[in-house]
Parts: sequence; C-alpha cells; structure tokens
Amino acid sequence: MLLTLLGTGCPQVDSRRFGPSQIVRHQGATYLIDCGSGTTQRLYAAGSNGAEVDAVFLTHLHSDHIVDLFQLIISSWHQGRDRPQVVYGPKGTKRYVNGLLRLWKPEFKQRTAHESRSTTAALKVKVVEIEEGEIFRAGEMVVTAVEVDHYPVYPAFGFLFETPEARLAISGDTTYCPELIEAAKGVDVLVHEVYVHHGWPPTMPFVEDKENRTVKSYHTSSDVVGIVAREAEAGVLVLSHFVPTRFDEEELLQQVSADFDGPILIGEDLMNVDVAQRRVLSWGMSIALGKKPAAKKKKPKAKPKVTAKPKATAKAKSAAKPKAVAKAKAAPKPKATAKPKKVAKSGATNKSKRTKRS
Ligand SMILES: [Zn+2]
Ligand SMILES: [Zn+2]
Repeated sequence: MLLTLLGTGCPQVDSRRFGPSQIVRHQGATYLIDCGSGTTQRLYAAGSNGAEVDAVFLTHLHSDHIVDLFQLIISSWHQGRDRPQVVYGPKGTKRYVNGLLRLWKPEFKQRTAHESRSTTAALKVKVVEIEEGEIFRAGEMVVTAVEVDHYPVYPAFGFLFETPEARLAISGDTTYCPELIEAAKGVDVLVHEVYVHHGWPPTMPFVEDKENRTVKSYHTSSDVVGIVAREAEAGVLVLSHFVPTRFDEEELLQQVSADFDGPILIGEDLMNVDVAQRRVLSWGMSIALGKKPAAKKKKPKAKPKVTAKPKATAKAKSAAKPKAVAKAKAAPKPKATAKPKKVAKSGATNKSKRTKRS
C-alpha cells in the first residue's frame, strides 16, 4: 500500500503546501482522499491522473477539502477517462456535487458539442453518501469511515485503509477524538492533521488571540497530536494539513516527539510512504523507518463483576474466585498521567457539546 501526500496545507495559499489531499495506491487501484486546491496538479506530478482514480473519499465538506473537485472531473475527461467518478462523502455531498454539475452544465454542453471525444462518461458522477462503518471493499482493500470531532462541521470522518499486510489511518480534520484513536489502534501509519502552536506569524493580519483560539478549537494542536499517536500505538506518525502552512519545523518535531517515541514525518507535498514496508520513497531516496515495535499486550481487564456476584454456585465460586483475584493482582494500576487525562476530558467536552448543539 503506497500513500502519497498530494497537498499538506490548509485553506491558506502556499506554493509549497497545496490544499489537503492524498492518494492510496494498492494492487493497481488508486484512491483519492480529499480534493483540496491543486489536487489535480499534484496528482499528475505523483505519476497518476484523474482518469486513473477508482474512488474519491471526502472526509468532510469544508471548502479546503473539496474545492478542486470540478477540476478533477473536467480534467479526467481530458485525460481520457471513460467512466463516471465515484465519490464517497458525508451527507451533503450529493447536494454539493449536483450543484456543481448544474452550475457547469452550459460549459459541458458547449464542450461536448465542440470537442469530439469518444465518451462523456467522465462528466457523470456517482455519489455515495456515507455513515460510520465499512464503506468500501474492493480486492484486498477495505475502507472504514470513523466519525471524528470537527464541530461545528458535522458529520466529519477519518478513514481507515486496510489490507491483509497494512493498516493506514487518515484523521481528516478533527480535534482530539477518542473514537478515532480506538479505531486506529496499532495502525502502521497514522496521517494526522495538526494545528501548529505558536505557528501563526505575528504579521498575519486577521489573527487576534480570539480568532486563533477559534481555529484551534476544531483542530488537533501540536502539543496533543503526539499523545494521539501514542495512544493509538501508531507505527509511524505522518503530520499533514498544517495550520498554518509555515512554522518552525524543529520546534514542531521537539514538541511532538516529547509525547510520541515512534518515527514522526513532517509531511511534504508528494511524499511517498510505503505503509507495509515502513519506507519513505521520495526525492530519489529510500528511507527505512526501522522495525515496528511489538504490539503492546492488552491490559487485562479487571472484572469486579466476578467478585461482586454474591450468588455463584459452589463450583463456580471455587473456580472463579482465585482467578479473579489473580487477575486483579496482575492488572496494572490504571495509568492516569496528568496530560492525557486532561486531553480526554477536553475531547469529551467537545463531543458532548457537539451532540447537544447538533
Ligand atoms: Zn481542513
Ligand atoms: Zn475542516
């Protein structure tokens, strides 16, 4: 499974970091995740094009993730695509895509009449609106959507791409999200968005402290993203969707590596990562990221129920009691370091806030 970051930026315009987008290639299939500004250009630079894309997955409908969708449709047609694009996205995707196609209908009519191409199938789009759970299966590839916390944008998803050899999680836009951490447990690679603390240049005209806090509230800040990777027991953390796009990279690495021991990649547009082999394959280099540490043994769950059951039969009592005691003794004390606890609390608050308001 080959992951290629196409755009690692945000709504900000930056020639080094295009709008958020990435592709996953496996067994000859190409899957595009999000379609931010400049996606089609980067897709071509990555050695692919819109004609080859087998499915598009949209994490959510913020403009920075979908703004290049029309360009993808029209350029795919020019690239000889002979089938409709298939777009998987949250509720609202049909409305957005149908609106786009309606808006450009006169252009389609004019072009198709004037340019004699063998088919217009590429100008059609099949939309599948998704909910949480498995959303796609083809060959070895299984794609699962996980609802994330990007309140007030709802719904918003992260995605898991899984084959028998490799597991990849893509966070989409989210603040600290326990559900995503749980779903991504033990992934080989976690691509996660990041809001870079202290990253805003002082010259940014619209940023005042209040604005800064508002943007930060629905993203994962750089002093939290390492905790996310650690709790998810990710093999490799790939940072992307940088808000803002320019920041002190050394400072970011130091901040994130304080919480996460594994390899951390500051994503770059057109960076390739072989997910199963743990290799970065870019810029003529092949970089091994070392062996994945052995999976941590699951903590034995304390079962107070067993000891609490007052009316067990004599047989069950004698069998169950010593076992339960032994287990309880072996169970490590629940780790409650100050930091994750604080984060978990804030995550829960956000979630409940969202549920209440939505
Ligand atoms: Zn975004
Ligand atoms: Zn967003």
